[in-house]
Amino acid sequence: QDEPSVLGNSTDVKVVVRVRPQVLGVELQPDVATCVEVDGFNSLLVRSASEASSMQFNWVAGPATTQGEFFKVVGRPTVENCLSGFNSSVFAYGQTGSGKTHTMIGELPEESDVLPPNAGLIPRIFQYLWRRMQEVQSGMLANSANNTAAAGSGASSPSSSKDGGEAGDEASSSSSGSAAQPSLTWMVRCSMLEIHREEVYDLLRPNSGPLNLREDIRKGVYVEGLAERVVDNMQDALGVLRTGIALRQVAATQYNAASSRSHCIFTCHVESRLEPQPGLVNVRSSRLHLVDLAGSERLRYGLGGMALGEGGDRQLKETTAINTSLSVLGLVILRLTEQQPHIPYRNSKLTFLLQDSIGGNAKTIIVANVSPSEACLHETLSTLKFATRAR
Ligand code: ADP
Ligand code: MG
Repeated sequence: QDEPSVLGNSTDVKVVVRVRPQVLGVELQPDVATCVEVDGFNSLLVRSASEASSMQFNWVAGPATTQGEFFKVVGRPTVENCLSGFNSSVFAYGQTGSGKTHTMIGELPEESDVLPPNAGLIPRIFQYLWRRMQEVQSGMLANSANNTAAAGSGASSPSSSKDGGEAGDEASSSSSGSAAQPSLTWMVRCSMLEIHREEVYDLLRPNSGPLNLREDIRKGVYVEGLAERVVDNMQDALGVLRTGIALRQVAATQYNAASSRSHCIFTCHVESRLEPQPGLVNVRSSRLHLVDLAGSERLRYGLGGMALGEGGDRQLKETTAINTSLSVLGLVILRLTEQQPHIPYRNSKLTFLLQDSIGGNAKTIIVANVSPSEACLHETLSTLKFATRAR
């Protein structure tokens, strides 16, 4: 409970800005000018042309923030929230190259269970999730063992001097103990999909066509026919993630577009079955969505400079579609923070699909990724504007 967390008790959308270090191309030259500066735990200084302005967020993670530190503040509380039975979602927003994939996925371990220092949120969430599920399970069993032991000794104390009574008590307490032994089992299912030009594709099944979104009173909104893999441990989950990443690359090559043009959603569906006594089952289920959004940059050519051949048309349509989901996401979040009654979830695939995990009882964290370079000022300002609206 003493761990840093950006998730308070409120259900607001939380906004974290992550400024990446200067790592790309020209940025590596000495003394490249920067346009943003971390100015305390939740404050960012932005310099444009002649003026500097200060902006506040729930947390500003600077270039020196490690993946591990980032996870502690953003990843852990979302896992805890999920284990408590609430939906959570984390979105990485920002221009291409700003660090979204680094934040969400980063580096994956080869085969071992040891995560590399650059492992991002998703692999760290896997590791923590299984650790916590085990802890909760054994904590509960230990508790129930203590309780039955306490109840047993309490009941047997008056008769503890009598040999027969003691033996009888022991037998009954152990038999009633095992009968009343609560059992807790977890089940985790993972899925991974991509939204490209407002179409949904399964990233765990090659060459599956676009899938439909359906709505059901019991299930809520779901993707019809989407593969869900039951995973028993972190290695299983990493295997699913690797499959999805590989297919995302294949898909990107097929429609001849960078993967930065699609939204990628990795979902962990966590279900707990608690049997406090035989015949009584409590099932609790929640979803954790980890979203690597499409690059937020606008297409600045196409209408003017670039010839609108087939490729141009397609690119333009892609950008419009990307912007549909991104701008509807922005609008949804704005309406939520304004506490408006009508939230336009249905206006894009992304928000419709995730409507149970944005707002309401769900915890939502937007990570606004920015590059510190002056050359990126324009996109950085646009990302921060999005982030400010969500605050
Ligand atoms: P995006 O997914 O937004 O297009 P990436 O995550 O691919 O951006 O990041 C672009 C490059 O910057 C990658 O080479 C990545 O490893 C590097 N990078 C991003 N954020 C960091 C960071 N916090 N620390 C070190 N390198 C980073
Ligand atoms: Mg990326």
